[in-house]
Amino acid sequence: MPEWEPVIGLEIHVQLKTHTKMFCGCEAGFGGEPNTRTCPVCLAFPGALPVPNQTAVEWTIKLGHALNCRIAERAVFHRKNYFYPDNPKGYQISQYDEPLCIDGSFVVPGPETDTEVGIVRAHLEEDAAKTVHVGGATGRIVGSAHSNVDFNRGGTPLVEIVTQPDIRSADDAKRFLQLLRQTIVELGISDAEMEKGTLRADANVSVREVGEMGYRTRTELKNMNSFNHIARGIEAELRRQIETWESGGEVVQETLDYEVKSDTVTPRRRKEEADDYRYFPEPDLVPVEPEADVVERLRSEVPELPGARIRRFEREYELSYYDAEVLNASAARAALYEQVALDGVDAKAASNVLTNDFVASGVDPAAVNGGELGKLIAARATIPRETFIRALAESADPEFRAETYLGDTLVADTGELEPLVDRILADNPGQVAAYKGGKEGLLGFFVGQVMKETEGKADPKVVNELLRAKLS
Ligand SMILES: [Zn+2]
Repeated sequence: MPEWEPVIGLEIHVQLKTHTKMFCGCEAGFGGEPNTRTCPVCLAFPGALPVPNQTAVEWTIKLGHALNCRIAERAVFHRKNYFYPDNPKGYQISQYDEPLCIDGSFVVPGPETDTEVGIVRAHLEEDAAKTVHVGGATGRIVGSAHSNVDFNRGGTPLVEIVTQPDIRSADDAKRFLQLLRQTIVELGISDAEMEKGTLRADANVSVREVGEMGYRTRTELKNMNSFNHIARGIEAELRRQIETWESGGEVVQETLDYEVKSDTVTPRRRKEEADDYRYFPEPDLVPVEPEADVVERLRSEVPELPGARIRRFEREYELSYYDAEVLNASAARAALYEQVALDGVDAKAASNVLTNDFVASGVDPAAVNGGELGKLIAARATIPRETFIRALAESADPEFRAETYLGDTLVADTGELEPLVDRILADNPGQVAAYKGGKEGLLGFFVGQVMKETEGKADPKVVNELLRAKLS
């Protein structure tokens, strides 16, 4: 059997969170009473003229910088013609052969090496309205009684990012999308939430034999609404294609939906030839020609991005890749970590707390005073674990002071602990005999008894030492 290599490219749509829509003054945003945020422009009344949203253009340039793209000196809006109820004009204003951002790359750090994914383009367009299929079990058009259209979403600024087919596994595709999402969120240009549809991703999937040049026929996977579903959908499609080729069949170009329940893909419509959208330049808009100083200003406004930060954390704080990645899952968590670590708290200890107990507490890192948290972490070996966990849970309180909890110290005084240890050993002669007979695992039982009696306040290290001495 030949060895197969996955070839995956992604197309990502990101809804920008500008106050207003792409070509009119209507408020943009998620939800709301249907059809309340519309006007003659986004409903396509005859004679209504579009005016581009300056912020949307600037944010797309910013994203282009984050994707290492070349920013075009001239970008042109085109009309992409197609007939569908969610598209009142009969065309979508998009960018075609002269997009705003071109030829970039995005680096995804991994445990061993970086994965670099080429970016073909990132262009600006307007979103379609939302179609809601009523009746029927699946919420899809098949089996529904009728469909409603909500034009609130119609005309919202949308960026489309197209990658090169550089991704070589379903897992890499998922990691790429997660880091891209984090980058977009930190740029402050979109909430990029898959469940709200403000981030949507399609995958182009094909396989080829290892060493084979060129590409085989690809299929397009749509309708995947979480990072896990995308990874599983790609896996399912790779399996199907490999089976098809190995059984002497041929993969045909088509669009597929991933069905989560059955873990299979089903065809949507077959493309006999490429769709003909009859693109032509939008006659109501002049080309976008961003000035060089604006492009440079926007470049300077791009903050340190999460991919670079993961590598810096590994280097500066000598952390593992895993720890650096978990700490950088949000900008706020990364910033809190740096406050704590720069305050002189042991970098590894701070990382352990922030990637485990702190995450488990569910506390918003942006609300925590790093200095106070650092004091708490530095003193954690001297206070009962229960107190420490309670302190973490309360650390977002504006009144939070580490001092409050530090008085609750562990009992490390052997004079105080010794009589208790003696009593527990006397009360459990059977276990003592078993321990001495070789069942050394019973040490934990005795430690547990001491902890129970002291309500967790005994210093476990001292208790261990005392028990070992007495049982030897
Ligand atoms: Zn409008």
